[in-house]
Amino acid sequence: MERSTIVRVHEGLHARPATRFVRLAKSFESNVEIAKGEKSVSAKSPVKLMLLGVKENDEVTVKADGADAIEAVEALIGYLENPRSGLEEDEAAKPGSGQEKPASPQAEDPQAASVAATASSGDLRGIAASEGVHLGPVFALFPPKIEPAARRLDAGEVESEITRLREAVAAVQKRMDAALADQSLAAGDRGIVAALRDIAADDTLIEEAQAAIRKGLDAVSAMVAASEKVAADFGGVDDAYLNARADDVRAVGRQICLVLLGENDVDLAAVPEGAVLVAEDIGAWDLSRAPLKRLGGIVCGKGGATSHIAIIARSHGIPAVLGVGDRIFELKDAREVAVDGDTGHLLADPDEQARAAFLTRMDAAAREREALGAFVDTVPKRADGAVVEVAANLGSLEEIDAAKEAGAMGVGLFRTELLFMRHMHMPSEDMQAETYAALAKAFAPHPVIVRTLDIGGDKPVAGIDFPEEDNPFLGWRGIRMCLDRPDIFKRQLRALLRAAVHGNVKVMLPMVSDVAEVRRARTLIDECAAELDLDGTPYARFDLGVMIETPAAVLIAPDLAREVAFFSIGTNDLTQYVMAADRLNPAVAALNDVANPAVMAAIAMTARAGVEAGIMVGMCGEAAGRPDLIPRFIEMGLTELSMSPASIPRAKKTIAGMCS
Ligand code: PEP
Ligand code: MG
Repeated sequence: MERSTIVRVHEGLHARPATRFVRLAKSFESNVEIAKGEKSVSAKSPVKLMLLGVKENDEVTVKADGADAIEAVEALIGYLENPRSGLEEDEAAKPGSGQEKPASPQAEDPQAASVAATASSGDLRGIAASEGVHLGPVFALFPPKIEPAARRLDAGEVESEITRLREAVAAVQKRMDAALADQSLAAGDRGIVAALRDIAADDTLIEEAQAAIRKGLDAVSAMVAASEKVAADFGGVDDAYLNARADDVRAVGRQICLVLLGENDVDLAAVPEGAVLVAEDIGAWDLSRAPLKRLGGIVCGKGGATSHIAIIARSHGIPAVLGVGDRIFELKDAREVAVDGDTGHLLADPDEQARAAFLTRMDAAAREREALGAFVDTVPKRADGAVVEVAANLGSLEEIDAAKEAGAMGVGLFRTELLFMRHMHMPSEDMQAETYAALAKAFAPHPVIVRTLDIGGDKPVAGIDFPEEDNPFLGWRGIRMCLDRPDIFKRQLRALLRAAVHGNVKVMLPMVSDVAEVRRARTLIDECAAELDLDGTPYARFDLGVMIETPAAVLIAPDLAREVAFFSIGTNDLTQYVMAADRLNPAVAALNDVANPAVMAAIAMTARAGVEAGIMVGMCGEAAGRPDLIPRFIEMGLTELSMSPASIPRAKKTIAGMCS
């Protein structure tokens, strides 16, 4: 029995839809295959199905052979043609944040230069990814190397080696199931573990490894070869999201090998108080287990200012130096390391003199932090008595506590990207509504400003097919992509309307460069409201604002001000676009300076247009936290400044100091 059809699943058959499809296939006894072009695979293996690379509008054939073949083909074709709304979604949450510029080194801070001064020429350097200084014991996270025995098996050993492999796979599955059952696992981490468990539970890896054992390889060598082969298959698919799954396959293969070798991975739970986590790379899996509250610093061979670990480090106020490169291995056996997150300098096992100098600096920084604690509850006001909202930039619900402890008066930017990026699938409307509602409740009565999806071709997201672009920063990102994909955008807008019943939700659109974009977004919001009316789902209208981060938006600011309730100036992007200097390219870092008169003039023009129109003007780029610039922003008429939580007390102090 076989039938062909055109696939109508928006995300194509990868990530969650693949799992749904497989679950449906497995509910039938028959052998079921799905074919695209020449290639046909078992419909009961999520990995094989993902590797088939089925996309929306592809033609596929479903074939079944067995007692319930007709029912199986009908059910699977039915799913492909008409995936019930929400069926391609998953409820497991995975919130987080998007890209963020590094905290600017506080050049005006007299302490900032001193680590470089204590550093000798042989010292290590990396990217200053999260400000602050710390000296602490090294906690090296260099997972054990997998060293296969590279031994040929005798024919008589094959079956017992296969049994050993199966037992190791079962042990890893059991460990992942236990992790999933742990209630304390953050919702965001649950999705990562669930994705890895899906791969561990799939037959593809084991079948590959078994075949290798039958050819005479020992179980560890067979699993290394099998995971490399399957990872290479993922790497070869024409889909950035699936390419990224190669790392998941390697991670699962590695766990299985460690069980076979009787070794344990480094236990992050054992990190001592104040230690500096030193690693070649820190993946999502490690991050989910890291006791961030105990960490004094983070040093990493890979990563940069926009990597996930940098954003988390900044949110938690942990000094971090990333992108150290291969020299990270020099720190592996060090006892202590001094981390300067302001300049990117590192000192391994400093001598007494350097140690003393560094400790003095740490002391001064701690005293400054303590003194700044006095400003946590300050409600800063301008000279005319108007309150200046000092709010937090957040990317996940996990960061709420740190923001509140720092004195955040609401959220000026909730980046919704990681909610999408950390998933194996498109987050459902319900999951999004719950996330935005939790954020609103946590900060009520202060406003929370949620930014609609701002994603571009440089970041893979399940279910969105990004074109290869020569200039992703000038390409199909932010509001441009959302308006072209109303299926994704409306799901987010409906979730936001539902969360707005809490009264303090505002919404802003990223990358706006034309009034028409705002009008089209508003039409979609009206459509969503009408749909919710029809369903009888409770919702409320929200204030709509725009980010001012393109030169076009600055130039048409008076027109935009007539359309929206507020502006939020995104200086990270505005600087790169005004100066034509890529925010990620160190070679033009000197030009990428928000204090450049050209950028400051653009900010002033925006503020003038907003103030004249009587709408709120805020700022959510990293410049909002710069004490040297804050007085100028306040003078321009800004009444809201949103920043990394760790910068909030200092910003409040600066504003309070303007009136004293
Ligand atoms: C900005 O561009 O200033 C901004 C806040 O957005 P992002 O850094 O997320 O691009
Ligand atoms: Mg931006």
